[in-house]
Amino acid sequence: MPLGFWPPASRLCAATVSVKRTYVEESTLMHRISLRAPLAAAAALLTLGTTVLTAQQGAPADDIDRRTAQVMPKVIEWRRDIHQHPELSNQEVRTGALVAEQLRAMGIEVRDHVARTGVVGVLRGAKPGPVVALRADMDALPVTEEVDLPFKSTVRTTSNGQDVGVMHACGHDAHTAMLLGAASVLAGMRSQLAGTVVFLFQPAEEGSFGNGAAGDAPSGAAGLIAAGALDNPKVDAIFGIHVWPEAPGSISYKPGGAMAASDALTIVVHGKQTHGAQPWRGVDPVVVSAQIVSALQTITARQTDITAAPAVVTVATIHGGVRGNIIPDSVVMTGTIRTFDAAMRKDVHLRIRRTAELIAQASGGTATVTIGIGTDMVVNDPALTQRMGATIRRASNTVRSDALWMPSEDFSRYQQKVPGVFYFLGVNAPGVKPEDAAANHSTRFFVNEDALPVGVKAYASLALDYLKGGTK
Ligand SMILES: [Zn+2]
Ligand SMILES: [Zn+2]
Repeated sequence: MPLGFWPPASRLCAATVSVKRTYVEESTLMHRISLRAPLAAAAALLTLGTTVLTAQQGAPADDIDRRTAQVMPKVIEWRRDIHQHPELSNQEVRTGALVAEQLRAMGIEVRDHVARTGVVGVLRGAKPGPVVALRADMDALPVTEEVDLPFKSTVRTTSNGQDVGVMHACGHDAHTAMLLGAASVLAGMRSQLAGTVVFLFQPAEEGSFGNGAAGDAPSGAAGLIAAGALDNPKVDAIFGIHVWPEAPGSISYKPGGAMAASDALTIVVHGKQTHGAQPWRGVDPVVVSAQIVSALQTITARQTDITAAPAVVTVATIHGGVRGNIIPDSVVMTGTIRTFDAAMRKDVHLRIRRTAELIAQASGGTATVTIGIGTDMVVNDPALTQRMGATIRRASNTVRSDALWMPSEDFSRYQQKVPGVFYFLGVNAPGVKPEDAAANHSTRFFVNEDALPVGVKAYASLALDYLKGGTK
């Protein structure tokens, strides 16, 4: 690998290098690593570049940039390893072991097997001060990968009775690798830390969906909290990052309600079984169900003030009957309810019950509506969000502060205990518009590794800057 591919060490260590310039260089570096250079060679070259740098300690921001560049080959290596070995919720045994081993190698205190497979790392700074937590989730999804990568997942599992692949289709491999990278950066800056950093490597974020529907695992965040992850030491604030299909390296967030509450919906329509040729001799639950599905859409379109907050009601499955000439006795439908406002959440639930029950009643049948209260809204503490604004703008050149996301996240559980902010990191391939990119949970979800240094910097900077400000 010719040395000419790499920026000269003198350029990397110039004190005047701007954050933007450094990122562009790293981007180029990582692109070349991914296309041409073996990782070991990349690591050796970066170490060469940064050895010269060690003598020139700059301001903390420059220090974070430099240390991030140094750890990136490892971050890419971790991310690819985890990507190729994805594990479903509460089964993150290999991933948890990898995390624990790497944290220990960095000299960080480790508690592993927390809430089954979670890992908590504690880095105590040289000086006393507040405690800040950084969170990454580790679990994958029952999705068959269709992205053509050398480290593509070929793991398979049985999910809900179906043979299916296992894939990091939500990018939690990137979260875990970026947080390990930030842990390495911060461990190297221990002498500058006035306080403590807690690293939360959480299992089962995806498992929390639906809260109790068949096949769901309990929320990993709830498990870590129950195991005392926020208590020992007592955490003052928490930050999390999620990758999503936006411009690579961009960061988005929103003060206040930012991600929806998610509740699971089950409706059983009871009719009366009869011959398909003689519907008047029974009550047809298929027709009643069709009316309910249509009417439920009018709750969000006609009965909810969508200028206050958006809401979604989805019926995603509908099952009934065994053959074409038998009107069945019952139909079962399941779906999801997403809201951004506590009062609207209650109101939408009420309207769903009323709509389904009264439509069934009008036809001579009944409907049983079950709403499983699931994940609460992600609510970013407004004061903390504002306080960390400058930190985020330093980590990324492209920052938006209006990001509403309809999916849910059990990061909300931490925010119910301590102030917290959740950020989105754009990871699209270069030139791919957000609307053209595969969504999270898609078989083609793609993470552009060039964006990962921004996530490492953001994690590390949030912790460092929060501790510098003391507890407010
Ligand atoms: Zn997900
Ligand atoms: Zn996710």
